[in-house]
This record gives sequence, C-alpha cells and structure tokens, in this order.
Amino acid sequence: MAAEFYLGADIGGTGVKYIITDDQGGIFHQGEVPTDPHSAKRTLGRLAMEVAERISPPSDSDEATFFRLAAVGLACAGIINPASGHLGRSPNLPGWEDTNLKRIIANEFQDKPSVVANDVNAALFGEFSFGAGRGCRNLVMIALGTGVGGGIMLDGALVVGTHNGAAEIGHMVLDPSGPTCTCGGVGCLEAWAGSVAILKQARLLAKVELKETALAQLVLEKGEHLSTRDLSLLAEQGDAASLALFAEVGHRLGHAVGNLVNILDPDRVIIGGGVAQAGDLILGSCRALVPAMVLAEEAKDIPIVSAELGPMSAAVGAACLARQEQAGG
Ligand SMILES: [Zn+2]
Repeated sequence: MAAEFYLGADIGGTGVKYIITDDQGGIFHQGEVPTDPHSAKRTLGRLAMEVAERISPPSDSDEATFFRLAAVGLACAGIINPASGHLGRSPNLPGWEDTNLKRIIANEFQDKPSVVANDVNAALFGEFSFGAGRGCRNLVMIALGTGVGGGIMLDGALVVGTHNGAAEIGHMVLDPSGPTCTCGGVGCLEAWAGSVAILKQARLLAKVELKETALAQLVLEKGEHLSTRDLSLLAEQGDAASLALFAEVGHRLGHAVGNLVNILDPDRVIIGGGVAQAGDLILGSCRALVPAMVLAEEAKDIPIVSAELGPMSAAVGAACLARQEQAGG
C-alpha cells in the first residue's frame, strides 16, 4: 500500500509555505508558492499543481493524481469558520475575504477532505504536536509578527469561540489612553508589540528624543528597510535606547500574559512570530512582571517560552490538524 501524505499550507500575504508529511508527521517535502492576493482559487490551484508533481504516482500507474494525499490542512490569518471553511475578515488578504476555502480546496484537490484554521491556531497546534507545547494540554500562544496574533488550547482542543473570534490576544486593551491600534481601537497589545508599532516607536524616538544616538543613526541608515532584527542587533551591542524599547515591549506583553494566566491558568505560554526572535530582550521584562500579577501561587512560575518550530509552524500545525481530522478528531 502506498504511503499516505498530508499537506499543510500557511497562506501568507506574499507566499504560501507548505509542507507534505507522512502519516507519522515526518517531513516528505517542504516548499513555497507565491500568493495571488486577488484570488484564493488561482493560489490554491497553483499549490495543487506543485503538490501533485511532488507526490504523483509513477507514470505507468493509472491511479488518480492525488491518490497518495489523505487530507489537506490550510492555515490563514483572519476570522475563519473551521466548520464551513468560510474566511471572513483577513488583514493580510483583503482580496480573499468572504470566500469558502474548503470549497476551493475540494475543487482544486479532487475532493480530498480538508481542515482550515486561523494561522496562529495552526501554529499553536504545531507547537503542541512537535514543538514548545509537547506534553501540555492547556496552552496560550502569542505570535509577535507585523501584528500580534493569539491562540488558546484547553484540554487539547483549540478554542475558536461562538463566532470564531476567540484568542484575538493582540487586541486585548492594556491601556485605554495608549497608542492607536491598526484595528481602530486604542491601547491594544498590538499597538506596542507588533513590528509595525515597534518600528514606529523606534523612528519616533530617533526623531524626537535621541538625535545623535546609535539608534538615530540606524534609523537614518536603514530608512524604509529598518527591521526589528536590526534593532535587536543594536540592543545586543548594549545600546540603551533599543534595550529600553524591547524592555517596554516585554513589559506590555507581560501585562497581557499575566491577565491570560489569571483567566486560563495554562501549562505554559508560548511566544512566537518574527519579533520574538529578539528572545530575552523581550522575554526578560515579560517574565519579570508576570509572577506579581498571577494570583494562584503555583501558577506564578509558569514557563513563558519561545516557540520552537519557526516560520513553518503554521504549515506544520495545519498538516497535523489534517491528520487529526482524518483520524476522526
Ligand atoms: Zn487592536
């Protein structure tokens, strides 16, 4: 009998990262195809062609193209109804809003069963299966990227809520008189801890308070290409202004984590996303704040850990979700 494969794909604003695993979760192949921001159908059609090439049966076989593919898992930023496959509001892909992803997958992948999930939920499921959440049942994940996403797992199941809007941790309001958020609200975690907010703050500091400093020089030198990675490299060299900037991010993150631990009492909290590569520059001040906020004595030393699976985490998680779905939940 031929090996059964599972496809996990993470739809980003510019590219689709995908992974093909065997039925034990072992990686058979991974790659990326471009995202067409205006068409889910064209994007998934292209993905289907590439996957078909990778797993196609020998040319003398009369099996159907996708005979070895057992199920498809798809992760996408936005409000997703996992039951119907409907994608509602999606910040990265406004051209895909109000489409039914399950229906498109069925059309492009010869009616293979599928599961669709919010990207941070998928990343959390990946960390739960193979990464920083192994062996845990109750988990919170906060993904610090361009914006800030969240995922919650209770007793081994992802929490999506009544209207599929649960775990929007990035829009937890920390200070009603804080900075304006991309969502239109004020003082959300994302308004401090997303890369857009961090870069904005760095530019503001360079302009207003810290002329003639290393931070100001870096901002000038990098211009539009300034990244949080540039800032973290400067901080690692001991630059006080950038150290303080990341410490502030960690402090705000700590408030969110403290609130979440008091509400959910998870086994651990996983911090992922590109900004989290700053590691202890952020996690240091986060970990310093949390114990004082947490009420339950045994929960005060809750592990706050970095994600382990990196940029492929949502694709890995989507493949794991597909495998679980196929196994009957
Ligand atoms: Zn917000």
